[in-house]
Amino acid sequence: MKVHVVTLFPGLFPGPLGESIIGRALGSGVVELCLHNLRDHGEGPHRGVDDTAFGGGPGMVLKAGPLAASIEDARHGADEGSESESPVVLMDPQGERLTQTVVDRFAGLDDMIIVSGRYEGIDERVRQRLITHEISIGDYVLTGGELPAMVFIEAVARRVPGVLGGEDSGKADSFASGLLQHAQYTRPAVWEDEAVPEILLSGDHARVDRWRREQSLLRTLQRRPDLLDFAELLEWERAFLRDQGWE
Ligand code: SAM
Repeated sequence: MKVHVVTLFPGLFPGPLGESIIGRALGSGVVELCLHNLRDHGEGPHRGVDDTAFGGGPGMVLKAGPLAASIEDARHGADEGSESESPVVLMDPQGERLTQTVVDRFAGLDDMIIVSGRYEGIDERVRQRLITHEISIGDYVLTGGELPAMVFIEAVARRVPGVLGGEDSGKADSFASGLLQHAQYTRPAVWEDEAVPEILLSGDHARVDRWRREQSLLRTLQRRPDLLDFAELLEWERAFLRDQGWE
């Protein structure tokens, strides 16, 4: 997958994306990061990319011209040899809230273009003309779209085949099946007088799987009961949850 990022601060990349699993995916080319510096299309002797807002008020707005030119640059790279147009995703607190379902919609794509806003945001005409999706990483406001872009890229990249390793990797993660994941334990079996649940040492994989699934159901019921309304549940799982006070 090729990810194009339009940003005023390309030096922030790859940042945390350069380490560990995603770093290896970038190193091996399974995921490719192409940075497009907004300043390259800046206007005038100072290569300006922002201006004050019409109507007054504090803060600057990213100008339409440089931003549109940068997105077009990215589009040439993204659509080269591709049959369909790549999505142009603006990171924006006003966008659709990022969830695993949203992530999975993007994970199968060959290319995508991500636009990082700054200051008060971008000129509305570019939003309407060139942006195809808007994504928020939560109901709070950050200074720029670079960190949200990294969060989005990391979430999408780990769903790209080959990035996490085994085919089953990530399948048991929270949200993958609509539930929160069960608790995890590792060595030592006893730590400061506290033992791990005995069943995990039993070697009986069927019983371990069943226990983990129950723990997963229980956690979801306790922490995020809203998820249970949409999770695909077997009859025994529903019965188990009802015994725990669900519905
Ligand atoms: N004035 C805008 C508003 O009130 O909606 C906020 C602009 S914010 C200071 C600057 C940029 O940071 C945004 O254009 C966006 O790219 C990014 N940003 C900030 N918070 C974000 C969030 N929660 N999710 C995604 N992007 C965000």
